[in-house]
Order: sequence, then C-alpha cells, then structure tokens
Amino acid sequence: MTETLVQIVPNVYIFPRDENSERVQPNVGIIVAGRQTVLIDAGNSPRHARRIMIALDDIQAPPVRQVIYTHSHWDHVFGAMVFGAPAAAHELCRKHLAELGSKPWSHSYVQEEIQRSPARETALRAMSRAVEDWRSFRVVQPEIIFTQSLTLYVEGVTLELEHVGGAHAPDSVVVRLPEQRVLFVGDCYYLPPLHLRRPEDTLDSAMMRRLVSDAYDWYIDSHGQPMSREEFQKLAELA
Ligand SMILES: [Zn+2]
Repeated sequence: MTETLVQIVPNVYIFPRDENSERVQPNVGIIVAGRQTVLIDAGNSPRHARRIMIALDDIQAPPVRQVIYTHSHWDHVFGAMVFGAPAAAHELCRKHLAELGSKPWSHSYVQEEIQRSPARETALRAMSRAVEDWRSFRVVQPEIIFTQSLTLYVEGVTLELEHVGGAHAPDSVVVRLPEQRVLFVGDCYYLPPLHLRRPEDTLDSAMMRRLVSDAYDWYIDSHGQPMSREEFQKLAELA
C-alpha cells in the first residue's frame, strides 16, 4: 500500500487506490491549481481522507478548496468531512447523498442494514471496516449542483464536469482537464454494484468508446491503474 501521491502530468496527481479490492479504496484525483487544491472524490472514510491529507502535506500542496464527487457511492464520498471544502455534484448525486446523509450511521445501523438486505453484505462490511468510528461521521452534502455539465476555472486550470450516467450509477459524471489532457472517469463504465448485478453484465464498452478522444492522453478510473489512450482503447475493445 503506497502512501505517496503519483504524479500523472504537471498539476495532476492521484492518491492511488488500494490494490486489495476488499478494502474498496478508490483512486482520488488531486489537482494543484495555483494556491488551491481540488479533489476528484473524497476517499472512502475519514481515515482514508486523513492519509490523503498527509500525502498532500508531503508535496506542500495548497489547501483543499473544492471537492468534486464523481457519483454518490460511499467509497467516493465518506472521507469528505475531513477536507472542510465545498463539494460539487450532479443533481441525482445530491438526491442520493441527502438520503444517505439522513441515515443514523453507527456500527449497529450497518448491522441492521446487513440483516435487511443481505445482498449488500460485502459492501456494508467493507464500509464498516473503512469507517472505524461513526461517532463524528457525517456525509458532506454538495453545495454546487448541476444537471448536465459544469465548467470550473480554478487558477488557470479548467475542469469540465459532464453527466454521463450509466449502469454502474445513474449519477456518474466524468471530469475533463483539457489543458492537461487528462480525463477522470470515476466508475462510469463499471458493472452495476454487486447487489444489482446480473450474470450477463459487462463493462460498458459503448461508454468507453464515447469517452476516448484524441484530445486526452490519460484516462483515470477509480479502481484501476491510470491508462494511456492506447490502453484505454484496448480495454474498450476487450469489453
Ligand atoms: Zn461506484
């Protein structure tokens, strides 16, 4: 498990995922823009987020001023309370997070959820391991909401957010950095979550083909290695 940021291109880093998929700890995108840092997703827990903060300190990154949620799944959102920065999200993501935020989170609530929906047991157990302490936990509700697309200009760095939806999460958005030629795709072409998955489900190759573009050199999804355009194209063909 690495605790060091991986630089993709100037201004753009990731705090890399945990390769042990049982930990459900995704890549977190980090954009250093002038005197501020923007995060793409917030980590799966306050503990994960604190490790990201330490890695940011190691490169003397400026303060985190903005978080962007790629979608509302817990592993992308539950670290946000650590950063104290406003979050941007799609309208559907806002709705899901309002619902998630209204739950009485605690170890016993998670146990009750497992009883109520055994198909979600694997995810809920991973959540329970990631969030050790629920006492001060809260879901940070997004403040900047959009329905189709939103462009943020952050000290010379352009971030283009676009809603793409898909079978994994209807609220999925991608984040394009045209000047850096980097595309953050979240989980948008992944299979549906385990409890909703059917045997015939595959990676969404149509989504991948729609995203690939000569304008982008790097494709960063949440649970895999950063990919060059050629690698991403290959994955789309195999899907
Ligand atoms: Zn997801």
